[in-house]
Order: sequence, then C-alpha cells, then structure tokens
Amino acid sequence: MSAEQPLIADLFEVDKRLTLKPVVDFNNYLRNAFADGACRCHRCIERAGDEAGYTHRHTFEIEGRTLNRRFTNTAGSDVLLMLKKAWLSYTKADLVTVGPLDMTTLKSFTEPSLHAHLLALLPASGLARESDGQWHLQLLAD
Ligand SMILES: [Zn+2]
Repeated sequence: MSAEQPLIADLFEVDKRLTLKPVVDFNNYLRNAFADGACRCHRCIERAGDEAGYTHRHTFEIEGRTLNRRFTNTAGSDVLLMLKKAWLSYTKADLVTVGPLDMTTLKSFTEPSLHAHLLALLPASGLARESDGQWHLQLLAD
C-alpha cells in the first residue's frame, strides 16, 4: 500500500499549485476578458459586425454564447503580464516570451472551462498565433 503514497502526494501537489494566487488570478482574468454580446465598438457598429479585414477578431462564439473581448484590459501586453506571473508561479521557471508556446503546460493550469477563452484570447490580443498545430508567442507590436 505504501507504493500509493507518492501518487497521492503528486495529486495533492498539483492541486496545491492550482490554488496559487497568480494561477487563480490568471483564470479569473480569462473569465473576465470577455463580456456578453457582440462587440459594440465604433468600427463594428459602423460595419454592422462585418469583421472582414480585421487583424484581430472582436466578437466570438464561445460555448454557444456570443461574447466580445474587453479591449481595455486585454492588450497583448496585459495578457502577457498575467500569463508570465501564473507561469512562473506554477512552473517555477520564467516563461520564454518569444517562440514556441507550451500549450500542454499552459492548459494544465487553465481551468478546462476556460480553454476556449484562452484559445480565443491568445490570437485576439496579438500575443500568440497557431500555425500547423503549434502555438507561438509573438513579439508585441504595441
Ligand atoms: Zn468591435
């Protein structure tokens, strides 16, 4: 029976890391990054919601709900700041901010119910993009 002890300890360790404040903050941030309804910015209203030609999307369908990204606190630099704090707290290592993004690690401290939000926010904020199944962090222009 003693062989099971390390396993239980491992599980406990995982749970404990998910309760670290920066990790909790990151999940709350993802949850609050979107507001209900379609984007009502000047540009979207003028174009009646036609996002053709947009570099980044404004309106999203996430789990059957229409949501818009809160621009005021979701610039790429804002997302990066929250991500860096959670990453350091969870992995005990600094996030490498340019190049391939380890989505397996990122998803391991992102609540499953927020994975869709994460996958929407990363490209919408300009922080990361996916190509051929691999996510890459980008140098931020803003
Ligand atoms: Zn808009």
